[in-house]
Amino acid sequence: MSFLKISHIAIAVEDLETAKKAFETLVGSKVQAVEEVPDQKVKVGMIPIGESRLELAGPTDSASTIAKFIEKHGEGIHHICFEVSDIKAELARLKGAGFQLIDEAPRLGADGHLIAFLHPRTTGGVLVELSEKQD
Ligand code: ZN
Repeated sequence: MSFLKISHIAIAVEDLETAKKAFETLVGSKVQAVEEVPDQKVKVGMIPIGESRLELAGPTDSASTIAKFIEKHGEGIHHICFEVSDIKAELARLKGAGFQLIDEAPRLGADGHLIAFLHPRTTGGVLVELSEKQD
């Protein structure tokens, strides 16, 4: 229905180059283009795996949310992203069901998709991202 698939699993890494080599060896395929997201002070490398991807996210600055995450938790899984068919409808449904939204309205994500995050407090400690593809 409207949750279509796991879009990606994001892993917070201290050094993108080091992690890139390790995960390329682990899964046997290459990181696609590395993208820098300046407003989040993060560099992201995506490795496609079937219908999903691994997102390696490394900080470009100590003020980055990824740097703060690593400071607090160490490297590890940062968030899980689900692709949905109608992000606005899902946000309204989830808010109504008592989930705490970080983004009340969708915003533009790294790859031109509309994205929004849910607070880990109401999702078993896991930061959840929703993503809707734009035509
Ligand atoms: Zn993501």
